[in-house]
Amino acid sequence: MAQPRVLAVLGQPIEHSLSPLMHNTAIQALGLAYVYVAFEVAPADLAEAVAGLRALGVRGYNLTIPHKERVLPYLQELTEEARLIGAVNTVRLDGQRLIGHNTDGVGLLAALRRDGGIDPAGKRCVVLGAGGAARAVVVQLALAGAAEILIANRTPERAAALASHVAANVGGVALAALPLDGERLRQPLARADLVINATSVGMGDDAASPLPADVLSDRHFVCDLIYRPPQTRLLRQARQRGARVLNGLGMLLYQGAAAFQWWTGEPFPVEQVRRALLEHLAAGDEEARS
Ligand code: NAP
Repeated sequence: MAQPRVLAVLGQPIEHSLSPLMHNTAIQALGLAYVYVAFEVAPADLAEAVAGLRALGVRGYNLTIPHKERVLPYLQELTEEARLIGAVNTVRLDGQRLIGHNTDGVGLLAALRRDGGIDPAGKRCVVLGAGGAARAVVVQLALAGAAEILIANRTPERAAALASHVAANVGGVALAALPLDGERLRQPLARADLVINATSVGMGDDAASPLPADVLSDRHFVCDLIYRPPQTRLLRQARQRGARVLNGLGMLLYQGAAAFQWWTGEPFPVEQVRRALLEHLAAGDEEARS
C-alpha cells in the first residue's frame, strides 16, 4: 500500500481540536492514503514549523488559535477570503508555494444554505460580535450578496472598524455598527432577516444570551456559531419566539469539507463526518455528566 500523505492542524492548545476526528473519518470513509495529525506548536516555533512542513512536502494543514493571523508573513499567496478576513485557517502547498485560505466563512455559508435552507443574498443581517469568527462571517455575507449587515459588539469600536474594513473592500452592501445592547438593537432587529451570534456568549457552561428574548420573532433565522452546547440559550429563546434556528456544528463541518476538498480534490463525506462529530460530542456530554 502507498505510504500515507500527511495532513495536519497546528495550534496551542490542540488536544481538544475536532479536526483530526473529522478528517480521519473522511479519509477512512473514502479509503484514501492520507493521515491527519495534530501538532501542538507554540507561537515562537511557528516559522520553523511552517518551514519544516514545507521541507517535508506536507500537502495541507489547518491553523487554529493562536496562529491564524501570525502565519500570514510565511505564505506566498492568499485567496480572496483569506486576504479580506486577514486570517488563514487552511494552507496548501502547490509546488514550492504556500497558499493561505480561510474556509470559516464559506463553511458558514454552506451550513446556512444546505442545512438551514437560507441564502444570505439580498438579506438584512445582524451579526453579534467583532472578533475573528465575526470577521469571517461579515466578509462572507458581504461576498455572498447580503443587502445589509449591522455589526453589534460589546466593544463598539471593533464593530465600527470591521464595518469600515468590509465597506472599503466589498461593494454593494450597506454596513453599520452598534454597541451590543438589546434596546439599541430592537429597531434594526424588527426589520432583519438573519441574526448570527459570533460572540462567545453562551459557550460551554455560560448560560447567558447576547440578546433579550423579546427582540426575536418568527421573521428571524437565528444562527449561533456555538455548537457546545448544541442548543444555547439564544437558540432556545429564538425557537420559543417562532424563529428558525441553526447551531455552529454545520459551520465546523463545512469549513473542514472545504479544506479537505481543496487539499485532496475528493468530495467530503459530509453526513458520515456529521455523525462522527455528533457521536463524539454526545459522548463528551455523557462523560461530563457522570
Ligand atoms: P474572539 O476573537 O475572542 O471574539 C470574541 C467575541 O465575543 C468578541 O466580539 C467579544 O467582544 C465577544 N464577547 C466575549 N465575551 C463577551 C461578553 N461577556 N459579552 C459580550 N460579548 C462578548 O473569538 P472568536 O474566535 O471570534 O469566536 C467567537 C465564537 O464563535 C466562539 O464561541 C467560538 O467557539 C465560535 N466559533 C465557532 C466556529 C464554528 O466552526 N462553528 C468557528 C469559529 C468560532 P469584545 O470585542 O467586546 O471583546
